[in-house]
Amino acid sequence: MSQIVKLTCSVQNYAWGKSAGESLVAEFTKNSHKTERFAELWMGTHPRGHSVVKQTGQKLSDWIGEDLNSRLGSVCPAISGKENGDLPFLLKILSIDKALSLQVHPAKEHAAELHARDPEHYPDPNHKPEMAIALTVFEGLCGFKPVNEILDSMKAHKELHSHLSKETVDIINFGKQSVIDEISFIKKLFEELIKLDKSADIVKKALESSSDLSASDKLFNRIHAQHPGDGGLVCIYLLNHVTLQPGECMFLGANKMHAYFSGDCVECMACSDNVIRAGLTVKFMDVKTLVNMVDCTPGSVASQKLTPIRTKGDNIRMYVPPVKDFAVDRVWPNNKPLTLVNKASPQIMLCTEGSGTVSSGDCVENISPGDVVFVVPHVSVKVTGDFTVFTAYCQD
Ligand SMILES: [Zn+2]
Repeated sequence: MSQIVKLTCSVQNYAWGKSAGESLVAEFTKNSHKTERFAELWMGTHPRGHSVVKQTGQKLSDWIGEDLNSRLGSVCPAISGKENGDLPFLLKILSIDKALSLQVHPAKEHAAELHARDPEHYPDPNHKPEMAIALTVFEGLCGFKPVNEILDSMKAHKELHSHLSKETVDIINFGKQSVIDEISFIKKLFEELIKLDKSADIVKKALESSSDLSASDKLFNRIHAQHPGDGGLVCIYLLNHVTLQPGECMFLGANKMHAYFSGDCVECMACSDNVIRAGLTVKFMDVKTLVNMVDCTPGSVASQKLTPIRTKGDNIRMYVPPVKDFAVDRVWPNNKPLTLVNKASPQIMLCTEGSGTVSSGDCVENISPGDVVFVVPHVSVKVTGDFTVFTAYCQD
């Protein structure tokens, strides 16, 4: 039986993606089309972009489905009881040139509720926790800022005050000691700002006559050039601007507001399509649902990052989020052959740099950047050479 098979994976050419020459997605798939944008590479069994087994030409889910026992396993909670070959996680590469929509993803029960109520806009009943690991410098918005930072921004933006409630303006003027409940205050301020018509024009006009721009003001101007007049721009003053260096990671759990702005990353998520958008998009937005569900807990930039676990000397980092659906290891054997711990889960392994081999039993595959392999559960895997792979799997 083949314990390792190579995959051909699906590219998504969204308008926000980088062009060939800049995009890691284009580099990994050897695409050089001049006018196309190469936004995402999808590795998994998602129906809108399923991977194909190179050897047989089958959809990966069909190939797994031929022998569920040995190709999918049954130990991991996210897999047990599955009657088809669909993987519970989706691994992606994102190459971002322009800001993506401001969004949150629902918790599991809420996703089922939304899907039952509005299947057109919420296409499946699953939750969609996500994790982004930077491959190049990667930036975006993630989670609400500490209250004092929000208050400082709002104090500086007096042009907004006449459009807010008296109660909110009083708190802005009196400062942090007048905030009784931080989460309730942030929620109320967010709701007033996101529902405010023409908020981007109001702020933009004030910035045009100001000579002293803050870092958030400069970010506002930069993203405004990509999404002129967009009602979500004002959230730049409420949310943390997070910059990840290569290897750094952020995890987006249920109801955590986020938007990706630029850079390349490895992204892993539960296989789902449920997104609730509040701005920076021309797609369907559901501000009312978002306001009700959004997690307004304030936190620092540092608190948005997920620190990987160091193991096996210096050659493996494990990015383990607080959900069972997935985890990702970054492995670089550095010319010392490395035998990886057997996993109860199937794995999807992507090479991002260097070259070498991945082997298990009689199966040996040469890999170089952009090569993707599927590894069946409960087998010992050996990696040899000088390269980096990211491998996604379900947690036991
Ligand atoms: Zn998201």
